[in-house]
Amino acid sequence: CGIVGYIGDKQAQDVLIEGLSRLEYRGYDSAGIATIENNVIRVEKKKGRLKNLEDVLAKEALTGRTGIGHTRWATHGVPSDENAHPHYSVNKEIAVVHNGIIENYMVLKEELKAQGHVFVSETDTEVIAHLINENYTGDIVETVQKVMKKLKGSYALGILCAKEPEKIVAVRKDSPLIVGLGDGENFIASDIPAILNFTREVYLLDNGEIAVLTKDDIQILNINGEAIKKEIFVVDWNP
Ligand code: GLU
Repeated sequence: CGIVGYIGDKQAQDVLIEGLSRLEYRGYDSAGIATIENNVIRVEKKKGRLKNLEDVLAKEALTGRTGIGHTRWATHGVPSDENAHPHYSVNKEIAVVHNGIIENYMVLKEELKAQGHVFVSETDTEVIAHLINENYTGDIVETVQKVMKKLKGSYALGILCAKEPEKIVAVRKDSPLIVGLGDGENFIASDIPAILNFTREVYLLDNGEIAVLTKDDIQILNINGEAIKKEIFVVDWNP
């Protein structure tokens, strides 16, 4: 699938749609975006090609200057509106886009159901949103570290938390993810071409790394929360 994320001063929706249009080759079962504005997460997602999502957003835009987006290549659950990403916790405090497969999602789903979580999709991804919500400590970065230790399989994730609206958290394990550095704005994406219209400076995340983006700063951490010094990679080619 294709993941994009944006935090800055622009309307996130515009950047996300532009990025997703360059990633559509990675999956076109569905497309979706989530934005945060005034501590509220809003989600719009649609089965089929990106055009279907764009038609919905043309009628009612999702405003907000922070957001995540996804085009899906379905592995668990049919292509449908419900199974489209972003997935979110019932209270809509956490929204997640995911590329990869969570191998132990059945076990996690049963545990979460026993704790009272109600699921609306057939995907492996939805457990991640519920799991982050269930384990939320008041610190999204710390919570994501904790949740990573419970997940088996492959994942690149873009995560929004309504209680921490000035942040995007991104992690990867065995699925691709890069971080783009802008001026007063920052990006995540599955692949460089998605953000090449906005920046040529990127961090290539390694397995197990966590990126914490604000509009003016990017921190890269390991799974234990220790800071990692990354080299900036400058893209000198055109797609
Ligand atoms: N396994 C997830 C799903 O089926 C993610 C698929 C993807 O990478 O697009 O929804």
